[in-house]
Amino acid sequence: MSRVYNFSAGPAALPLEVLEQIRDELLDFHGAGMSVMEMSHRGRHFAAIAQQSESDLRELLAVPANYKVLFMQGGASAQFAAVPLNLTKPSACADYVNTGIWSTKAITEAKRYCKVNLAADAKASGYSTVPQQAEWVFTPDAAYVHYTPNETIGGVEFPFVPLPPGGVPLVADYSSSILSRPIDVSRHGVIYAGAQKNIGPAGLVVLIVREDLLGRGREDVPTVMNWTIMAAHDSMPNTPATFSWYVAGLVFQWLKRQGGLHAIESLNHAKASVLYSAIDASGFYRNPVAPGCRSLMNVPFTLPDARLDTLFLEGAAQAGLAGLQGHKLVGGMRASLYNAMPLAGVQALVAYMQEFQRRHG
Ligand code: PMP
Repeated sequence: MSRVYNFSAGPAALPLEVLEQIRDELLDFHGAGMSVMEMSHRGRHFAAIAQQSESDLRELLAVPANYKVLFMQGGASAQFAAVPLNLTKPSACADYVNTGIWSTKAITEAKRYCKVNLAADAKASGYSTVPQQAEWVFTPDAAYVHYTPNETIGGVEFPFVPLPPGGVPLVADYSSSILSRPIDVSRHGVIYAGAQKNIGPAGLVVLIVREDLLGRGREDVPTVMNWTIMAAHDSMPNTPATFSWYVAGLVFQWLKRQGGLHAIESLNHAKASVLYSAIDASGFYRNPVAPGCRSLMNVPFTLPDARLDTLFLEGAAQAGLAGLQGHKLVGGMRASLYNAMPLAGVQALVAYMQEFQRRHG
């Protein structure tokens, strides 16, 4: 067996220990005589998995008691629609901050359900930075303010948590940076995150919502997107993504064994710093993001000549470094350094980059 260092942006690497545990528990989960995939979501085994995973996530993120934690389906994209449906009436206006491709997608979807005001847009910088909050133009009485703390494609991360005026709830798409460091949940009304980066298998989406925001939306929110119904049924008005949920629970336990989010944040800083320093010192590779807004999780970089890209990727694959091709919309390279990527993987990438530069620079 040979496992590669997987830099994919998502679905992404899972901790080896978690994969081994899944393997060990696959045929007979804790004496049930079946795998988690095969068991009823109403039975005692799955009830315990659901309860434990929620309590571990609450502990990791220090989720206050007045927030519900939901395990939903449809990925983060389903929440692009669910957010306006659950938080607005059709005539209402929501504020969005556009920092790149994922915020743009959230905005496009929200416009189908409510009025959208662009409170700020990083377009002028080519989406290489986060606009200072002092420049944002808020709508008085907006239903909410939405932002994308980490743009997975652009590699742009907010260096601050926005503070909407007058108690307007803050909504965050934390898909690609949740659990990479501690966050102050209480500053947010809603946090959602697709699972396939720092949580577990794709399909699942975790949503954390302040209780007083439930019931503010429309009457006709589809049942499986309706946060109030989800919360009333412990995320199980229908069959949840049981296996993904179980794996997410194992990842939460693994994170706790690593020392929680402060410990993982230190490691993530060490990893990112090794790679950014190598890029900046190279005079060959380039990262376009403003230094204060560089993502801890997703590091896009270009080579001086795009004709070298294929050669770079082929050599990387031979060196056991996978998933480095940049998003098709932007090209270039991207190394995603989620929690499951060890420091040794980043060091191996940097060694390969230096060797490639020596040959082709
Ligand atoms: N938001 C962000 C920040 C993302 O990175 C992604 C996926 N890469 C999505 C939303 C969409 O997630 P999904 O494919 O699970 O719908």
